Amino acid sequence: MTTALLRQTPWVIGNWKMNPNSMVQAIELALACAEYSIEGVHVGVTPSHLHLAAVATQLCDHDLQLVAQDLAVVQGTGAYTGDVSGQMLAALGVSWVLVGHSERRQYHAESDAILTQKIQAALQAGLRVVLCVGEQLTERQTGQAEAVVLAQLHAQLSHIDPVVWQHHIIVAYEPVWAIGTGQTASPEDAQAMHAAIRMYLGQQDSRLEHTPILYGGSVKADNAASLAACPDIDGALVGGAALNADSFLKIAEAFAQAKRA
Ligand code: PEP
Repeated sequence: MTTALLRQTPWVIGNWKMNPNSMVQAIELALACAEYSIEGVHVGVTPSHLHLAAVATQLCDHDLQLVAQDLAVVQGTGAYTGDVSGQMLAALGVSWVLVGHSERRQYHAESDAILTQKIQAALQAGLRVVLCVGEQLTERQTGQAEAVVLAQLHAQLSHIDPVVWQHHIIVAYEPVWAIGTGQTASPEDAQAMHAAIRMYLGQQDSRLEHTPILYGGSVKADNAASLAACPDIDGALVGGAALNADSFLKIAEAFAQAKRA
């Protein structure tokens, strides 16, 4: 059994999405991210499936965690054109997978039920999961943000044993209106949602109160410190700013410094 996930050391994960164009660029970006090892922060990168194998080979001597952007609902091997299973990812050295990113929910119609299957497939393959949740702008404007986010969590919590959750699941709160828009949630709003998520998890089972909760949504080098200073923000899921190693490492450094203090 793996050890329980702890909040003490923050997590900063770069979600590269459908970037960059070529394998050579992906390797260059991964190596640039791996060049400086920063004490006191777990750093992960999330290349496209196409680039995962090459990046995995390059990173085998480095501390960076390899994260996949998606996995199939089905396990192992089989007649599923275009799919990549959790076992295939694990065999490459991938240790984490994103599940429930708003772009998957929106563009691939991934429902809570599909996400449950994906989480089960990941756990069966021995992968850990970054479970993404977040509300749409209209939901925030109409005062439903917290209810929406807690419902997304509830849909998965009921299928996962608390001990398994404790060892395998990190939550990423990503308000959809903040993703790729340059419009970050204020540290106060982000902290309030993170505290609500933590309280909700703790009410379900006291062991879940310690779940690391990352914030995602236009995190940049210049706003990372103010988000990292919030007591319930345990790291960041970074999109655009992760495509530049310099800005990504500044974000990782900001979290390492804030949580060290
Ligand atoms: C993301 O895609 O998870 C994300 C947070 O993107 P960005 O940082 O670009 O808003």
